[in-house]
Amino acid sequence: MALIVQKYGGTSVGSIDRIKNVARRVAHFHKQGHQLVVVVSAMSGETNRLLALAKELSANPSPRELDVVAATGEQVTIGLLAIALHELGIGARSYTGGQVRVLTDNAHTKARILTIDETPMRRDLARGTVVIVAGFQGVDAEGNITTLGRGGSDTSGVALAAALKADECQIYTDVDGVYTTDPRIVPEARRLSSVTFEEMLEMASLGSKVLQIRSVEFAGKYKVKLRVLSSLDEPESTAPGTLITFEEDDTMEQAIISGIAFNRDEAKISVMGVPDKPGIAAAILGPVADANVDVDMIVQNIGSSEHTDFSFTVHRNEYQRALDLLAEQRKKGLAAREIIGDSRICKVSVIGIGMRSHVGIASKMFKTLADEGINIQMISTSEIKISVVIDEKYLELAVRVLHRAFELDKESA
Ligand code: ASP
Ligand code: MG
Repeated sequence: MALIVQKYGGTSVGSIDRIKNVARRVAHFHKQGHQLVVVVSAMSGETNRLLALAKELSANPSPRELDVVAATGEQVTIGLLAIALHELGIGARSYTGGQVRVLTDNAHTKARILTIDETPMRRDLARGTVVIVAGFQGVDAEGNITTLGRGGSDTSGVALAAALKADECQIYTDVDGVYTTDPRIVPEARRLSSVTFEEMLEMASLGSKVLQIRSVEFAGKYKVKLRVLSSLDEPESTAPGTLITFEEDDTMEQAIISGIAFNRDEAKISVMGVPDKPGIAAAILGPVADANVDVDMIVQNIGSSEHTDFSFTVHRNEYQRALDLLAEQRKKGLAAREIIGDSRICKVSVIGIGMRSHVGIASKMFKTLADEGINIQMISTSEIKISVVIDEKYLELAVRVLHRAFELDKESA
């Protein structure tokens, strides 16, 4: 008998039929004698619909009230799922985040979980009752309803699993696991039977949308055993999904590269002909950071004379703002010959912990792209990933040729 936390996303509970299907799967695990805590999202599209209602009333709604509105989506699903389980003759009780007491800070619309009170859940579980918890929401110390940011019910699931020291946290979604890359771009993409936590973290931050990045961070911190599975399979399915492992408990021979991630959400800004002297990076990036614009990749050329060029990427939504900020800095005395931007770029990354012990991954990546005539504009690396910025129009080609070059379509030995 195990204590299992199962999290079902919006598509998995997107209709009454799907909710019945979730109930059947929960019942299946329950009959095997497992203790179950089920975390659900709002029905698909519901959170968007609720937030849009608020936006109809105000261009700038109060974050506290937005949370009051948005949290209702999940409250509907917990009640419906409990009713569906009762119909199958299974004891189940629903809890809102506030009822469990998922205590968060008071940062409305992006709150962080502080503590979770496990006592009421333990009582139910001991009686064989299935515990159903609304994802995405909590309550602050004053009792205000809070939400955890879009996609936040992944984090709710992982946090509950951590608090309960669950044997496993199963994330059910509309795909059957984590893939070597997006199968819509590369049909030969394969489901990974396991991926390390660190690789998953890179994949989540580099554009793979299977798990909310905060949930992966949480899983890493509390060593939660995570598995990604499909909710669209039959309730009795034994499909294994993808297990997110910790390196130390991973005895399998690792593939060198486990996936190719990409991201179309970035834009590049280059500040050309700035004086090559101490303080220049701070003078350019300081005001950008002060305005809360996240900077991703940064490249500075070695100055050939007294001047140098400086490039960095930001999220596309913040591109114009970053350009405006720099224009302002220039007026205030930042000596730059020219400031140019390009929003038609993308970032492609190869990820794999095997890189630590294998040389030549970067050169293979660069050569593969060069053979297709794809120009690399920027490069950044970490211990387990290499990212390049290239022209957006080459995105699909780059992902395809890299997937083939690193033989990701082949089952690893
Ligand atoms: N319902 C919330 C959202 O759509 C939370 C979630 O689905 O994870 O963002
Ligand atoms: Mg989600």
